[in-house]
Order: sequence, then structure tokens, then C-alpha cells
Amino acid sequence: MADPGTTPMAPGDGSGGGSGEPPDPMPRAKQLPELIRRKRDGGRLSEEEIWGFVRAVVEGSAQGAQIGAMLMAIRLQGMDLEETSALTLALARSGQQLEWPEAWHQQLVDKHSTGGVGDKVSLILAPALAACGCKVPMISGRGLGHTGGTLDKLESIPGFNVIQSPQQMQVLLEQVGCCIVGQSKELVPADGILYAARDVTATVDSLPLITASILSKKAVEGLSALVIDVKFGGAAVFPDQEQARELARALVDVGAGLGLRVAAALTAMDNPLGRNVGHTLEVEEALLCLDGTGPPDLRDLVTRLGGVLLWLSGHVGNQAQGTARVAAALDDGSARRRFEQMLVAQGVDSNLARSLCFGTPAQRRQLLPHAREQEELHAPAAGTVESVQALPLALVLHELGAGRSRAGEPIRLGVGAELLVDVGQSLSRGTPWLRVHLDGPALSDSQRRALQGALVLSDRAPFPAPSPFAELVLPPTAAQP
Ligand code: URA
Repeated sequence: MADPGTTPMAPGDGSGGGSGEPPDPMPRAKQLPELIRRKRDGGRLSEEEIWGFVRAVVEGSAQGAQIGAMLMAIRLQGMDLEETSALTLALARSGQQLEWPEAWHQQLVDKHSTGGVGDKVSLILAPALAACGCKVPMISGRGLGHTGGTLDKLESIPGFNVIQSPQQMQVLLEQVGCCIVGQSKELVPADGILYAARDVTATVDSLPLITASILSKKAVEGLSALVIDVKFGGAAVFPDQEQARELARALVDVGAGLGLRVAAALTAMDNPLGRNVGHTLEVEEALLCLDGTGPPDLRDLVTRLGGVLLWLSGHVGNQAQGTARVAAALDDGSARRRFEQMLVAQGVDSNLARSLCFGTPAQRRQLLPHAREQEELHAPAAGTVESVQALPLALVLHELGAGRSRAGEPIRLGVGAELLVDVGQSLSRGTPWLRVHLDGPALSDSQRRALQGALVLSDRAPFPAPSPFAELVLPPTAAQP
């Protein structure tokens, strides 16, 4: 077995970026006010200075206020591609680099998202790819701003442990083929600290910070191919498709500079993905998709993102074959079996994992933490559902306890909402369209108003809900098949 860990904080050691040697001398924390001032005033930071900032973050010599100020300066002034690459590499090297047996190299793939509402794709895709013969060492994140986090969703399954050492990850990949883990003291610790700080300092929507945050986690994974789901639309971090495309390009280009083969899929995030939003409810819906059923938009995104990855890593000859291969893994139960194995291998009691994976939806609901109350909203008029705006929905759920306002704060895992209607469907007045799960008290008038405002009705004829998948940004060397 290869040793999956190497020494942290040694830039430029063969991963494609950096200058070759650790910057010397490292700027110390006392220089941070000068670095913050320069970035605040629109100046550039050198590679050495970026490494110095990241080191100060990890060592704890940077004060919380200094971290917040630097993040805000970067959010307001941006970073060029070189600065972004340096930040990515410095974050990646704040912990260990994962190394895997040579024989796995073509098999190692992963997927990440810039953050959506109801986006439970990772929970399904990691085991589905494992069932297709891939190794998926997925390092994921927690909720960020109004968007949900894969780790928080998985933690709604009693016993699931997102903290796994590099050695444990290797065992998981050998035995199951996938794992979903979080940052830790060993894995990208600097991103863990900056990520939590961004969530509570209004600095989530920054192109260089998103790029560095996502790619730092992926750069340590030793991948053959990575697909990033870049959301655009009303509930995306970047609503505008043009801006999202710019982010997609930055992810592909910075990734290429680090030796990573990255494709970025632009996907719409105006409506929630699927019908369930909220941690426990999303796990339930992920299980439906793993049953081979569930909402068509969710299945479509899972299979298409998986298809891109299987093609990019050379498992299949084109994307359509890859999509069909992932769909087959959902339909024949092999993806669900991998999910069950992953749950057990990451700490879930085997009886619970079995009942969750093979129980009915009603049985599943009994096994997961759920909210105390439910409240249904009714359509205020007749019409066709033009959209269900995900942003106001997510903001109300955040207020009800599904998101954090302070770093590290516990969240209410059972809080969420079930859409009872689909986009494109026609409704009569008074039809129940949303079931909110809350721990009480009842929704306030302003929350109810905000939620009712999320239902957009038109007098169009009913129509099939569109696929969220819009376009694919590929690395320069990959021709679209
Ligand atoms: N996912 C991440 O890991 N980081 C971001 O900044 C956004 C999504």
C-alpha cells in the first residue's frame, strides 16, 4: 500500500504550480496589515506574500479580523490568474498531498459544485462512479451562504463521520471505491478556516476565492479528471451566465496550470434541484435517485456530470456512453450498494445503513432526524408553474435554522421544504405546493409572504421542465465528442 500522505506546506514540488522552493523568507503575521492594505487598494500580492498569509492563517498568528479583512479585500479587488494559482497551491499545501497506488491513476475522478439549493448530486454521483469502476476521493464542503453543503447533509445520517485520515481514505477507496470527507488538520486545513470565515463575512461570491477553495481541495486528491458544476441563475453565487462562464474558465485554466484535467458544466440554478431542500430531506431524495427513481432534473444532472467524467478519464468513448453507464448504475442498484458500503465504512451502523438504503420512503423518514412541525402553503391563484425561485426559499430555510450565521454553529438538520409541484405543471387555486418542515414556532407573516412570492405562475400551457444542464467548458486539449 502506498503511503497516502506527504509533508505539508512545501510549494512547487511537482504538482504543476509554484516556484520550486518555499518562498524565503516567509512574511510573518506582523506584515499582514501591509498586505491587506495593498490588496484593499487594488495592488497585487506576490506568491511569497500569499504563502505567508496562508501560513499565518494555519499557524493561528493571523487574527480573525485580519482574515476577514483580507478576504473582503480580495472579494472587492479580485486577483489575477497568477495570484489565484498561488493561493490555490498555498491552500492545497497547507495539509497533506494524497498519493495513491500507480494502478489507480486513470480511475481517480471527482466532482464538485459551486453551490446550489437542493443540490444533492455528490451524494449520488460518488457511489455511482464507484459502481462504474472509478475511485472517488471526494473532499467536500459545508453549507456556504444560502447554499447547502454535502458534508452537512451526510451528517444528518446518524454516525456518518466526515473526518477521515489519508490512510483511512485509502482503505475506503480500496474497499468501496469512494468516500466523502471534509477538510481536517491533515487535509487542506487552510481552506477549512477560510471557508468558514467566508460563510460569515459576505465573501462567498468571489471568483478567485471560489476557484482557490475548490481547486485546492481537488489538487490534493491526485485526480485523473474533475468535473465542476458551475451554477448560474437566481440562486447561484453568480446569477449571470457570463460571469459563471468566467468562473468556469478560471477553474479550467487554473486547474490546467496545476496539472488537473478539469471540465466545468454550466447549469441553471433558478429553481431548486429536485423537489427536496434541507439536509435530511435531501438525503431522502438522494436515496430515491439511487433507487433509480426520483425527480428527472436531478437524475439528468447526475448522469450527465458522470458521463462527462467517464469520458474525460477515458472510461468510455463519448459523453453519451458515460451518461448511459451512470444511468445503468442507478437502475441496477449497484450505485445504491456502494452508497450503503460507504455509509458503513464511514461509521454508520450497518443495520441503519441497510434500512436506509433498502427501506421505503416512509421507513427512511423515521430513521433520520426530522423537524417537529410541518406547514403547507397553497397556490394563491390558478396557473402554470413558471418557476419556484430557489433563493427566497433558501433564505427562509436559512432563517429557520438550516444555515449558519456564525462559523461552526450547529444547524437544524430536519428543517427544509418539499416542493409538491413541478416546474411546467398547471395548478388550480388552493393546491398545496410547498410543505415546510420546521422546528417551530410557525412561519412568520414575512416568511410566508417570501415563500409565496417564490411561486411564479403564468397562463402558459403546461410544459416539460427543462434540463438544468446548459453548456460545458472543456480544457484546451479535450475535443467535445
Ligand atoms: N465549494 C467550495 O469548496 N468552495 C467554494 O468557494 C464554493 C463551493
